[in-house]
Amino acid sequence: MTKGACLCGAVHYEIDGPFQTMLNCHCSLCRKFHGSAFATAVIAPLSGFRWLAGEQAIRASCASRHRSFCATCGSAAPLLAPERQLALLHAGNLEGDLGIEPQLHQFVGSKAPWYTITDSLPQFEEWPPEIQAPVVSRPAVEPREGVTQGSCLCGDVAFEYDGTPIRMMNCHCSRCRRGRSAAHATNVFVALDRFRWVRGDAQVASYKVPEARFFTVAFCTRCGGAAPRLSPERGFAVVPAGTLDTDPGVRPSAHIFVASKASWFPITGDLPRFAESPPQA
Ligand SMILES: [Zn+2]
Ligand SMILES: [Zn+2]
Ligand SMILES: [Zn+2]
Repeated sequence: MTKGACLCGAVHYEIDGPFQTMLNCHCSLCRKFHGSAFATAVIAPLSGFRWLAGEQAIRASCASRHRSFCATCGSAAPLLAPERQLALLHAGNLEGDLGIEPQLHQFVGSKAPWYTITDSLPQFEEWPPEIQAPVVSRPAVEPREGVTQGSCLCGDVAFEYDGTPIRMMNCHCSRCRRGRSAAHATNVFVALDRFRWVRGDAQVASYKVPEARFFTVAFCTRCGGAAPRLSPERGFAVVPAGTLDTDPGVRPSAHIFVASKASWFPITGDLPRFAESPPQA
């Protein structure tokens, strides 16, 4: 039996193992909803799923059938599909060793341009062949010279920034994993004076972890999609890279907080790895 919870701790649930299916999804919905490079899900029979607390704290996403999120912290809630008798659990919210690792990448045809897959798992352009389901895609956003644009899943919230960001990194800390409901976060740090909201910032909610010095997540209150958070005390905006609509031109430079990474996520590739924060940060 595996337990799961949202970042703020309002929502708790459990699911019976052992698990047979675990996958990484690079579709635009997952990237927008989580704000990460991809979502990682465990899929299990619905009969083994139980809410333990906080079901009433969950809000349905306006932008995606079945998707919902914690109204306080924005963590993605388990996705239940009674018509298929399946529960889809976001692995970033699950506790402990899952006894399984991701088996494949799906929707690599719509993966983020800034993310390179470096493992040897099978890759599928859309759904794996055994799954018959509709394909969703998003209209492309027209790139503008010198500007990087982004938006939430429903599109109500949009932002942009000028020039080259300060840095871009993959963070494996437990707060990022739980807050993004993903294997790891990828964040772009942008100088505050180069960042601007285009629309919808009044619709962005944020949740600061009470015991943290800075750690805060932000999300659109209608769709639950990730949103940038501004950190005036540090002079930058933290932009979840999955929210970007255009190629930022830069790529993640390191994996950080790998000492607290998910046991089920092997890091591959040759980016520098730091046990905690990198020396320059
Ligand atoms: Zn929560
Ligand atoms: Zn997806
Ligand atoms: Zn939204």
